[in-house]
Amino acid sequence: MIQLTNIRKSFGAQQVLQGIDLTVQKGDVVAILGPSGSGKTTLLRCINFLEKPDVGTVRIGSFGVDCRAAGKKDILELRRRTAMVFQHYNLFKHKTVLENVMEGLTVVRKLPREEAKQRSLEVLEKVGLSHKTDAYPSALSGGQQQRVGIARALALNPEVILFDEPTSALDPELVGEVLAVIRRIAREGVTMIIVTHEMAFARDAASHVVFMDGGVIVEQGPPDELFARPQEERTKQFLARFS
Ligand code: ADP
Repeated sequence: MIQLTNIRKSFGAQQVLQGIDLTVQKGDVVAILGPSGSGKTTLLRCINFLEKPDVGTVRIGSFGVDCRAAGKKDILELRRRTAMVFQHYNLFKHKTVLENVMEGLTVVRKLPREEAKQRSLEVLEKVGLSHKTDAYPSALSGGQQQRVGIARALALNPEVILFDEPTSALDPELVGEVLAVIRRIAREGVTMIIVTHEMAFARDAASHVVFMDGGVIVEQGPPDELFARPQEERTKQFLARFS
């Protein structure tokens, strides 16, 4: 349902993605692991063209584009099919929790306000924030702010939610509540791709794990296999740091 083919991306002379092929099935929870600087975030951002790949094709559901030929309409269509959860939440500071979630539905999806409100209240309940709908982001903990970020993505009912290190800006005691919410929506069959350093989470919540290093996918597979029996030396060395 999501297919990336030969994705390449350079920043100046540095080739950050060196030809990535990745297939994600509907309902998969894919964890992307790897050392810092290996290209994980760039790959995630290439899926919705927050970074434009230099070469390759991106297919999401029935819609595919050749990156070199992609125009504005193609990019909008890819964005319509995806939603992203950012490391630093990226909430509107001067809007309430409810308004933050409604924004994409009214402005981008053009839903009538009342319908957008109902949908937003539903997803806020899913992330455990029904009691905070009128609060402003500054009055929330980091974990709560990230749960608003997740609600905002979920409200759009995208074909895939892209998570860019969703817990790495959080104090350690707040990580668990955010991972619990991600686990809960994963169980509902939402397709997700998650760049993360949370090994235990990847091991027990992901259906598929991808290990990247140096701009390539070194190894991938079901978490049980990849964690218990990594085949490649680079994967073994990386995982050994966390055991
Ligand atoms: P990871 O997510 O695995 O830590 P990134 O995808 O963030 O890796 O970065 C991979 C490499 O690309 C790094 O060397 C980083 O400095 C470089 N990079 C990422 N984004 C940009 C950018 N916008 N401009 C220049 N270099 C970048």
